[in-house]
Amino acid sequence: MLTKQEMMDAIKSRVEQCFSCPLSNFRTNTVLGEGDLDAPIMFVGEGPGADEDKTGRPFVGRAGQLLTKILESVEIKREQVYICNVVKCRPPGNRVPSKEEQRACAHFLLGQIAVINPQIIVPLGSTALGFFMGKSVSIGEYRGTEIKWKGNKTLFPMFHPSFLLRNPSRAKGSPKDLTWRDIKKIRSYLDEYKRR
Ligand code: SF4
Repeated sequence: MLTKQEMMDAIKSRVEQCFSCPLSNFRTNTVLGEGDLDAPIMFVGEGPGADEDKTGRPFVGRAGQLLTKILESVEIKREQVYICNVVKCRPPGNRVPSKEEQRACAHFLLGQIAVINPQIIVPLGSTALGFFMGKSVSIGEYRGTEIKWKGNKTLFPMFHPSFLLRNPSRAKGSPKDLTWRDIKKIRSYLDEYKRR
């Protein structure tokens, strides 16, 4: 039987050789994801940006650095969770990946979820949440709520860190303030998982 690492390596090599959608024309590197393959919590963004395309690593640019800080604010290290995106190649100009591109790439993300088998999936932003819910949705409406997904998993949507960079206010009820509440909930999920 293959180990989780071997299964993830197999997905990585298929992603690297994938030309199934037009995003393959623009990439420098594919960006599969990184983190603990046994993580109970998985963060899923929209797609790689310029820094991610350059390095082949997810969430390493300004938005990624903010995500790392948000995690660290409740003493979670990036290595304790798994971080990836809906699409594995950078959309030009950081545009939203089309529905067709998301569909073409979906089997890779679903494969990653099957390998990791997290209890909680955190879609970051409307695009990632829309992917899981199968329809266009507004993150503002759903963030901080628990949504059952495929029977035994829970979605817990949060704002995308790039949205927080554009909305830096910390006033009560602001996106940053709400994200602070949400990350504390993520901390409590992790604590609960450890107690089991
Ligand atoms: Fe393949 Fe996904 Fe890259 Fe499109 S975005 S080329 S489906 S790996």
